[in-house]
Amino acid sequence: MKKNVKYLLGILTIVIVFVGVIVFIKLNKDFPKGSVQAGYRRCYVDEGMYFVRGNSVWFFDNVSGKETAVCNKPNCKHNDENCNAYFSGLIGEMLVYDGYIYIGSFFNELSHDENNELTMELDSRFTQLSVDGTKRKEIYNTQNGSLTSAIAKDGKVYFTAYEYQNGWKPNEYPLDSSLYSYDLRWNKLDKIFTYKADAQHYNGNLDIIGCDDDNIFFLYTFWSENGEVTSSIQKYKIGTDKPIELRRDSQYLDAYVIEGEKYILYRTYKDENIVMEDPLFLVKCNDDFQDEEKIFVAESAAIHVLDGYIHIINDDYNKVLFDYKNMKYYVATTSLTGEGKYISDIYNTDLDKNMVYIDSTDYTGYLPGDALPGDISNNAALPWDDFLNEFFIPYEDLNEQDKEKLWWIILF
Ligand SMILES: [Zn+2]
Repeated sequence: MKKNVKYLLGILTIVIVFVGVIVFIKLNKDFPKGSVQAGYRRCYVDEGMYFVRGNSVWFFDNVSGKETAVCNKPNCKHNDENCNAYFSGLIGEMLVYDGYIYIGSFFNELSHDENNELTMELDSRFTQLSVDGTKRKEIYNTQNGSLTSAIAKDGKVYFTAYEYQNGWKPNEYPLDSSLYSYDLRWNKLDKIFTYKADAQHYNGNLDIIGCDDDNIFFLYTFWSENGEVTSSIQKYKIGTDKPIELRRDSQYLDAYVIEGEKYILYRTYKDENIVMEDPLFLVKCNDDFQDEEKIFVAESAAIHVLDGYIHIINDDYNKVLFDYKNMKYYVATTSLTGEGKYISDIYNTDLDKNMVYIDSTDYTGYLPGDALPGDISNNAALPWDDFLNEFFIPYEDLNEQDKEKLWWIILF
């Protein structure tokens, strides 16, 4: 008897010590400083770019130019469920943090049920995958909605998702929007808050737009049952249970936090002084998204945020780069000639490395709107200063005649 007790105590001590060591290791684990916001179907690390090819996640090495699937299985063709890098749904949000890739994937299919009613099969997953493809874990899934945005910060991955309040039904959109956090230290998922759908917030979308040291910023866009849109920019202090609203507008807009600076992009704004049919306004604001200062307005355009630049592209494929740190503009040479050498699409810049990631497909002879050749997921990394000098001209170097060709954009 005495011997058994001793034996049990011994085991218990070993277990306690063992658990204690694990807890100690977990408590002392350091996570990377700063934050990483998810990109759509691409994300970047020092060594290169993760991207989507077919249904799999691949890595493009910015030194060797080599492309490899995130899969360590020998002889794998990386095109079916057996592949470590394969996802059965459409891959959307992607970010890399602390040795893992976080991937949002989404699948939906409409069909008719036995009563001939329209039904939708929905499946959205948020998956953690080690960068060598060996470990895979689902940290969130829903058969009733979808993940919409994600950011990693201080050992947690925060993400937003919507879920249909009463399941999917044709032409009914009552959506609940929530913020979740996944604690990487303790592998614990928490729902932090939810905006429940009601008559005023019938259809809604909650998106993470950036963060600072203590806060995460959101854009909550919602439509009433009558179809009126409201955009609400919000700040969530980490550790509290709800965000506060910084401003709200009764129009559709985008908002950005770019290297700590706050910007609003008005997509449906009308200004009597601007004679444009479809003006897109970018304004810079103070920390609370107030005190707007106009940056530019462009006709029928879209923007794409790069490292150090905002890329502005209009419907005719004219391009301008806005260097937001130095308040300088660069105009694509093709925007002045209307022809000439095709400029590859810029995926992103990495100014620390003087590098630009581009789509390297040879489009010679193709015009905007033409059907493009085959598989266009071709990547290249080039020196940024060479690329900029070859294809862009500083706005201040343009003559008056060339400046007139930029009727589609007004720089303030
Ligand atoms: Zn594979």
